[in-house]
Amino acid sequence: MRTITTKEKNMALSDEIVDRLMGDGVPSVEEIEKRYPPRALSEGQCVTRIAPSPTGFMHLGSVYAALISERVAHQSGGVFMLRIEDTDTKREVEGAAEFIIKALGDFGLEFDEGPLNDSKEVGAYGPYVQSKRREIYQAYIKELLKKGLAYPCFCSEDEINAMRERQTKAGGRPGYYGMWAKCRNLTEEQIKANLDAGKPFVIRFKSPGKYINKIAIEDVCRGKRFFPENDLDIVIMKSDKLPTYHFAHLIDDHLMGTTHFLRGDEWLSSLPLHIQLFQVMGWTPPKYGHIAPIQKLEDEARRKLSKRKDPEANIAFYGEKGYPKEVVIDYLMNLANSDFEDFKRANPEKSYRDFEFKIERLNNSGPLLDFVKLENISKEFIATLSADELYARLYDWAGKHDVVLQKRMDEQSAYFKQILNIERGNCDRVRKDFYMMSAIYPEISYFFDDEFKLTPDGALSELSNLPQEDVKFIANAYCGLYDENDNKDEWFAKVKEFALASGYAKNAKEIAKNPDIKYKGTVSDVATVLRVLMTGRRESPDLYSIMQVLGRDRVMKRLGLLG
Ligand code: GLU
Repeated sequence: MRTITTKEKNMALSDEIVDRLMGDGVPSVEEIEKRYPPRALSEGQCVTRIAPSPTGFMHLGSVYAALISERVAHQSGGVFMLRIEDTDTKREVEGAAEFIIKALGDFGLEFDEGPLNDSKEVGAYGPYVQSKRREIYQAYIKELLKKGLAYPCFCSEDEINAMRERQTKAGGRPGYYGMWAKCRNLTEEQIKANLDAGKPFVIRFKSPGKYINKIAIEDVCRGKRFFPENDLDIVIMKSDKLPTYHFAHLIDDHLMGTTHFLRGDEWLSSLPLHIQLFQVMGWTPPKYGHIAPIQKLEDEARRKLSKRKDPEANIAFYGEKGYPKEVVIDYLMNLANSDFEDFKRANPEKSYRDFEFKIERLNNSGPLLDFVKLENISKEFIATLSADELYARLYDWAGKHDVVLQKRMDEQSAYFKQILNIERGNCDRVRKDFYMMSAIYPEISYFFDDEFKLTPDGALSELSNLPQEDVKFIANAYCGLYDENDNKDEWFAKVKEFALASGYAKNAKEIAKNPDIKYKGTVSDVATVLRVLMTGRRESPDLYSIMQVLGRDRVMKRLGLLG
């Protein structure tokens, strides 16, 4: 801790008062420091952490920040930590810490140290859950009190609210500072009297700063930024004896040896306070970096992706829709460093871990969430999967989100695999229309008789641009022609031959060339009729393959549907 002035020394509290404030059994700062020796890092190794609060909700921005922190650590051969910040007991949701650990694991974001280490005693810098570190914070608070660098505040919530109201009315800055800091100079006698009266209290940090002073701070994402010095006497320990975020993170990041502190830019305004806290403790602050939030376009204006308004802000959204996890990570990587896209194009097989991520290249005005891009990345990725791999992913997704589908897959797994194999693997053109698991079954449902409909409302007129009589004629005639043993060329030659013999032109060009001939349509119109009869749609993947997978019985049944 920094050397204290004589005036401060006069304000230092006696051991007796400090013991009354903090209770017994608090370890000494020396003991704690011995427990957490500085990390032996080699040049350039970075230690980063993510420190979510267990609120039961994980924002896409948190995974984005986690990915950035993980990259910075692992790219340097350093350490990536997960710390659960659960000192705000009001916000805590049961099971939320497990949820965070699972979500990170699902995304392949492996932390080297975190709550999972707590029981194994291998995480030398743990515990990694703040509520288990209570005595550690208390040790430092006790020390600050003894040195006159912190003090108890007995102001009630009503008094604080009234103070804020007066400050705002007078056009001033709200907060506990300067002349407003009523408890800053309480004497020991006054403190004792308040304690005797059983008044609840919090502990405040005694800020040495002056608001009129301007300070420059280097942010690893934002560069040099100027701020007024902090003069707020913030609460460092609440009445439940748990520290506030400001104080807990200071102690943790010091003891855990964080070198790069990357977090959302909603914390940027707290930076002067945090730097001051490190200075008062006499510690070198880590490098801070504030990550610009992911944005979205609404009515052509950009705004922050909002937990309240946007379902896609919730990481669970991507799981429910069934976007592959790799895709979400690649997409976030794209948002972080836009040249990742070029890297991926040049090296489609490589992992994002092979890309050299750079903090300096982060998009500081806030990257824009773009679903078209996300879908394209996903289509490309799904196109690389084999039918078996895609089947396994769909099956897994269905187990969590669509048990009816999973049951159907259980009953007809071979048929499903054949369906998923259409335009996949060894073919000239791999299909690239699947981008999320939830959209696959609706796309292939026509393969199942109970789901198959000729058109959504069953209207024949929508089937093709040919008159209904012609459609019926094609269906009936083709029944006699279809042979499931034909190869693709034979199959197509048959369709063509039949169409030409039945009064259809080769193509639109031929129609234009022979204005006197009354063609019924083109070969392609005939193929469309067959496609619609088989799939209920005018567009589909390769029709020959579809008919092969449907099998003779279904093909015949569908050809006969029009009577
Ligand atoms: N516990 C803080 C939060 O969830 C974390 C901020 C930080 O990364 O330090 O917002």
